[in-house]
Amino acid sequence: MEVKVGKKIFNGIAIGKIKFYAKAENKVVRTKISDTDAEYARYEAARDKAIEQLNMLYEKALIEVGEANAEIFNVHVMLLEDDDYNESVQNIITTQWVNAEYATAATGDNFAEMFANMDDEYFRARSADIKDITERVVTILCGGTENNDMGDEPVIIVAEDLAPSETVQLDKSKLLAFVTRLGSANSHTAILARTMGIPALVGVEIDEEWNGKAGIVDGYEGKFLVDPDMDTLEGYFKKKAHDDEQKKLLQELKGKENITKNGQKINLYANIGSPNDLISVMENDAGGIGLFRSEFLYLESTTYPTEEEQFEAYKKVVETMGGKKVIIRTLDIGADKQIEYFELDKEDNPALGYRAIRICLTRPDIFRTQLRALFRASAYGNLAIMYPMIISVKEVRQIKEISKSVREELKAEGIEVGNVEEGIMIETPAAAVMSDELAKEVDFFSIGTNDLTQYTLAIDRQNAKLDSFYDAHHPAVLRLIQMVTENAHKAGIWSGICGELGADTELTETFLKMGLDELSVSPGCILPVRKVVREVE
Ligand code: PEP
Ligand code: MG
Repeated sequence: MEVKVGKKIFNGIAIGKIKFYAKAENKVVRTKISDTDAEYARYEAARDKAIEQLNMLYEKALIEVGEANAEIFNVHVMLLEDDDYNESVQNIITTQWVNAEYATAATGDNFAEMFANMDDEYFRARSADIKDITERVVTILCGGTENNDMGDEPVIIVAEDLAPSETVQLDKSKLLAFVTRLGSANSHTAILARTMGIPALVGVEIDEEWNGKAGIVDGYEGKFLVDPDMDTLEGYFKKKAHDDEQKKLLQELKGKENITKNGQKINLYANIGSPNDLISVMENDAGGIGLFRSEFLYLESTTYPTEEEQFEAYKKVVETMGGKKVIIRTLDIGADKQIEYFELDKEDNPALGYRAIRICLTRPDIFRTQLRALFRASAYGNLAIMYPMIISVKEVRQIKEISKSVREELKAEGIEVGNVEEGIMIETPAAAVMSDELAKEVDFFSIGTNDLTQYTLAIDRQNAKLDSFYDAHHPAVLRLIQMVTENAHKAGIWSGICGELGADTELTETFLKMGLDELSVSPGCILPVRKVVREVE
């Protein structure tokens, strides 16, 4: 038995025969041609056929993995229709008098290299897409077909790498898992694996000798076991049976209401940090997004993200969620989330320092840019905004003034703005104590129990040494949650929890009793919390 380790892409256990996925090999030979127009026409015909295939793949993916994931094939079509790409192929054919296969492969190499060297992570990731579309056109020009035959029995696909188009073409009914040597955890292929719910590992050292042998993919531990002995196999059969049972039970809760036995309902929303997390939001049947930590946009960037970049990200999330509520939290940096280009001073007590709304209120340029992007995106769905680290009514009034002026500015420019709920996070004891006054100013409260606990108990949430003093269920925190919720309801607004405590199923019943209207948890916790809600009398 051999045991290899890799990066986990999706949880789960698969046991079955290993199949090596061999790509159709295209050997491109550079040959001289005499009729450049005819050669370019050959290229155009192959390109059009590739576009036709991609459109079909889009339709297939739309059914199997949803619109957001199918979108990659539209991107591929756009890349094939790109003038620069096509002009490069034409240029190589006409200036060098060479065949279309060579001109396409050379263009693909040049463009892929150019994208790979770009600063922007999004564009760097497009390098793989360029290779994929180029390979598709070259295969057509070479008269080849794609290797798509998986045989009769379900298999674990092992490959050097898998392009998104290859992943989607794999026959899902025969695909147990996949393991690749290349590929990153955030590649489209990995995203597709998550959406398909297939155990997957990347970054695994692979060996062609394994073809046909038995294998076990352990997506929980990030292990790939080849040719397992009987004891290991037996142990994994048991693990898999237990795993399947748990997953099946939770799956049955999809589409069901979050309702207690006596009819009390609660909204279960998801916390996300990036548009990439939308897949698990869908997969886990979230009723909306209760916390989109917008700082990811800033953390991933080497400079301040522009209004346009932010607008595109927010629009994508609200559009994907259809009419469901998407609560986007404005920038919350400082403390443990440091960003070099903000040039924040070193502080003795960063958790009590210059962070979140304090930065936004003293740097209105940054705040206004984000608000403009948010209000613009609000025209495309059900967007709500919430403000972090609030301690006073004065701050909220200041925020409201800025927010009003941004909305007026957009309207004066003729830009449509949706109906936006504006709420605050209750993360400080000050906000909790003042929640009766604050409730008169805003549309909702979302209790950030991670910080509320840290500030109430005076325990640094980053300091593992204090774990023995830390009590997530401390009555002081629970009393504050109750008080905040009562004050919200007195003022006629709703109250939810978006900190980690919201997913603590030991407290679900308590939260229901307190009358909380919403719990926003990481996507994978939605169904387990729903299960408990439905069991409460
Ligand atoms: C919180 O403090 O509970 C919260 C949700 O915000 P973050 O964890 O991002 O500080
Ligand atoms: Mg917080």
